Amino acid sequence: MKLNEIYSTDKTVVSFEVFPPKSEPENLLKEIKLLAKHKPAFLSLTYGAGGNENKSFKLLKNIKDSGINVMPHFTCITSTKEKISQDIKEFELLGIKNILALRGDIPEDKTFICHDFCHANDLVKFIKGNTNLSIGVAGYPEGHIESPDLKTDIENLKRKVDAGADAIFTQLFFENAFFFDYVNRVRDAGITIPVIAGIMPVISEKQVNKMISMANISVPKKLKEALKKYQDNALLDFGIEFATEQCIGLIKENVQGLHFYTLNKSYSTDKILNNIKE
Ligand code: FAD
Repeated sequence: MKLNEIYSTDKTVVSFEVFPPKSEPENLLKEIKLLAKHKPAFLSLTYGAGGNENKSFKLLKNIKDSGINVMPHFTCITSTKEKISQDIKEFELLGIKNILALRGDIPEDKTFICHDFCHANDLVKFIKGNTNLSIGVAGYPEGHIESPDLKTDIENLKRKVDAGADAIFTQLFFENAFFFDYVNRVRDAGITIPVIAGIMPVISEKQVNKMISMANISVPKKLKEALKKYQDNALLDFGIEFATEQCIGLIKENVQGLHFYTLNKSYSTDKILNNIKE
């Protein structure tokens, strides 16, 4: 099913993000099996987070063969038109219907110059013009880390939408107010496609610190205090409770989709979904 069909319901759609594991994928496939009982509309597979590409294509096929709709993430900044043409053809041959089109982070090498695709809107336009894939793009409730201001951020989001994006998947956020404000700004800009909330259950302090070092993500006082106070299972439980509250608040406001950053661990996401069903 394509993204526009998936989000054509009045109910909040659930989906999961996983990454290709560095080692053999059996453990991930087990985690996915556990999450499958929540009937996700699809699973998304990140790009470039460990594992080589052949492994990723194989994993995409394995997930697909297990009966789950899968959406690969795909980055363009270091790639060429030829390579991207090949890869997107490969996705279609695998029977993939949706893709998350991203620029990717700029390599730290100071001499790096992008060639064919410098921004995600270039990639969206290319995919739209050369395939039948439905296209998701990234959105940043608190602004992308390189954006000078929130207004410019939305203008650049609009470029991706005008190029053919079908849904926006947000960066994770810990305060729903940022998401609601973002959706208002997106709609004010005349963008009507679904905006899907990115939810990351807190698992460890290290994980939160890593995320906030890479992106604009505010950490509310309650979470800061919990990170000081709790560890291991106590922090895991806090994370479940915290994300459950976030999801309940989002569902109350009729969010079209919840996209869980599972970090390849089903435990917290499974508990959160059980909680919100209650
Ligand atoms: P863009 O939309 O191109 O934006 C990047 C920056 O450029 C922004 O500041 C934007 O305002 C600006 N900009 C955009 N277009 C223009 C333009 N035409 N002219 C001038 N400025 C412009 N990274 C991975 O490596 N692998 C993944 O699997 C992955 N998955 C992700 C999933 C989600 C849901 C999200 C939110 C992010 C993900 N990322 C992933 C991270 C992403 O690659 C980075 O955030 C990256 O820095 C920006 O990618 P983008 O597609 O948002 O870029």
